[in-house]
Amino acid sequence: MADPKGFLTTPRREWPRRPVEERVRDWDEMYVPGALLPLIGPQADRCMDCGVPFCHEACPLGNLIPEWNDLVSRDDWRAAAERLHATNNFPEFTGRLCPAPCEAGCVLAINQPAVTIKNVECAIADRAFEEGFAPPAPPERLSGRTVAVIGSGPTGLAAAQQLTRAGHTVAVYERDDRIGGLMRYGIPEFKMEKRHLERRIGQMRAEGTKFRTGTAVGRDVDAAALRHRYDAVVIATGATAWRELPVPGRGLTGIHQAMEYLPLANRVCQGDLEVSPLSAAGRHVVIVGGGDTGADCLGTAVREGAASVTQLDIYGRPGTERDEDAEPWPTYPRLYRLSAAHEEAGELGTAPSADADARLFAASTLRFSGDADGRVRWLHLVEVDAERRAVPGSERALPADLVLLALGFSGPDREDGLIAQLGLELEPRGTLARDVGFATNVPGVFAAGDAARGQSLIVWAIAEGRAVAAAVDRHLTGGASRLPAPIGPYDRPMTAP
Ligand SMILES: Cc1cc2nc3c(=O)[nH]c(=O)nc-3n(C[C@H](O)[C@H](O)[C@H](O)COP(=O)(O)OP(=O)(O)OC[C@H]3O[C@@H](n4cnc5c(N)ncnc54)[C@H](O)[C@@H]3O)c2cc1C
Ligand code: SF4
Repeated sequence: MADPKGFLTTPRREWPRRPVEERVRDWDEMYVPGALLPLIGPQADRCMDCGVPFCHEACPLGNLIPEWNDLVSRDDWRAAAERLHATNNFPEFTGRLCPAPCEAGCVLAINQPAVTIKNVECAIADRAFEEGFAPPAPPERLSGRTVAVIGSGPTGLAAAQQLTRAGHTVAVYERDDRIGGLMRYGIPEFKMEKRHLERRIGQMRAEGTKFRTGTAVGRDVDAAALRHRYDAVVIATGATAWRELPVPGRGLTGIHQAMEYLPLANRVCQGDLEVSPLSAAGRHVVIVGGGDTGADCLGTAVREGAASVTQLDIYGRPGTERDEDAEPWPTYPRLYRLSAAHEEAGELGTAPSADADARLFAASTLRFSGDADGRVRWLHLVEVDAERRAVPGSERALPADLVLLALGFSGPDREDGLIAQLGLELEPRGTLARDVGFATNVPGVFAAGDAARGQSLIVWAIAEGRAVAAAVDRHLTGGASRLPAPIGPYDRPMTAP
C-alpha cells in the first residue's frame, strides 16, 4: 500500500466504455482503448491492505489481490504479473469476463465502492504480455507420461497448461474447428476480442501443448481407445446441453437457442461468414432468459441491426442496494445491474419500460403464435408473482419474429458417444459424477469444469482446470504434486451466479 490514505482520497473509477452510439456500430471490445492503464496506479492504491482480505477468499482462484495491488501501486509490474500468474493462468480472460465476486467481498465495499480489482487484474495481464513478463514456460524435463484433455474451454486449457508445464505430454481434443470453448463461439467479440485467446494459445503451443481440433471424442475417435492410448484422460467438455421451453408454438420457424444464434455471429466476426443466417437485422427480437447469455444475445442483436429487442426475465426486478439480511457482505448479492448490452438496447429507443431498459421482469412465456407460413410472429406472456403464479389479467403479446432461448444448460452433451463409450456415471442432475479428487468411476479418467460442476463461470473453470491438473499429476507420479491447486474445498457453495 504505497498510499495509506488512497481509499479516503481517491474515488473508484472504472475502465470507461466507449459511447453507445459508437460501439454498437462495430464488434470491437466495448472499452475505450488505452484508457485503462493511466487509471490503475491510483485505483490499486485504494486497496487498504486490510489484513483479512475477504476478496482473496471470495475469488475462486484465491488470487493474491492485496499483494498485486501493492506491487502495482509501487510500479513493480513484473512482480505483479508474477504474483497474478501464480494463481491464475488466464487473467486477461477473467479481467474482462469475470463478474468479480472478489469486489463484492472487498472490505472497502462494506461502506464504500470496492477497489476495481478486476480492472487491475486486466491491466497487469495485458501489460505482462506487452512487456514480455509472461513468456512461454516450457518444462525443463519431460516425464514420459501422456494426458488427453477433451475440450478446449477455459477448464481444458488451464488443465493442459498446468500439466504441460509439469512435464507431461498433453494433447487437447476439440470437436470445434477452433480452440476456446464458450470463449470462442459463445461469448461475443465485444466482451472479449478473440486476439486475447489467440495470444494465450500461442503461448501454450510454444510450451509444447498439442491441439487436435475438429475431433469429437466419441464420434471421430473412440473414447475407450483414447483412454488406452494415454496414461490419463481429463474430460472438460462443458455443459452444452441446453434447456428447452416446451410451450405451444415452440415448433414455429424463427425460434432458436442462444447457442445456435451466438456461434454464427461469432463466425461472422472471425471471417467465416459474410452474414449470419440467423441475423437479427430488421427483426423484432425477444430473448427468453434474463441471464448473461441473454444479455450477450441482446448486444449481438443490437449490433446486427434489430428493429427492436426485449429480454424477458422470470424473476422480479432486484433492488439496487444489497439486502443486508438476505445477502450480507461479503456474499455476492443479486442486484439490479445495467450491463453494457442493456445500455445499448435502451439506446436503440425500443425499450419497453420507462427507465430505458430492454428487460421485462417477472415475465413468463405462455406460447408463441405465427403466420400462415409457420413463422413466429408473437410471443404471449403473463406477469408472475414471486411464487411464479400468473397475475390475473396481465397476459399480453409482444411482436416477435426472432425468438432466442437463453434458459441455461443442464449438463454435458450425451449424444456424442463419449459418456457411453467410457461407461461414465452421471449425477441425477445430468453432470458427470466424480469424487473430491476429480476422479470419475473409470480409473485414470478425471472430470472438471462445467461438465462436472454444472453451468458456471470462467473463473471456476480455470480453478477447476488447475485443481484437476494437480490431481492428475498426483495420479501419474504416484506421489505429491508440485502443481498448486487453488485454495478452498471444491464442493463449497458458489459465491457468485
Ligand atoms: C453465451 C455465454 C456467455 C458467457 N459469458 C460468461 C462471462 O461473461 N463470464 C463468465 O465468467 N462466464 C461466462 N459464461 C460461462 C462460461 O463460458 C463457462 O462457465 C465456461 O466456458 C466453462 O468452461 P469449460 O471449459 O468447462 O466448458 P466450455 O467452455 O463449454 O468448453 C467445452 C469444450 O469442449 C468441447 N467438447 C464437448 N464435447 C466434446 C467431445 N466429445 N470431443 C471434443 N470436444 C468436445 C466443446 O466443443 C467446447 O469447446 C458464458 C456462457 C455462455 C453460454
Ligand atoms: S478472477 Fe474474478 S474473482 Fe478472482 S480476482 Fe479476478 S475478477 Fe476477482
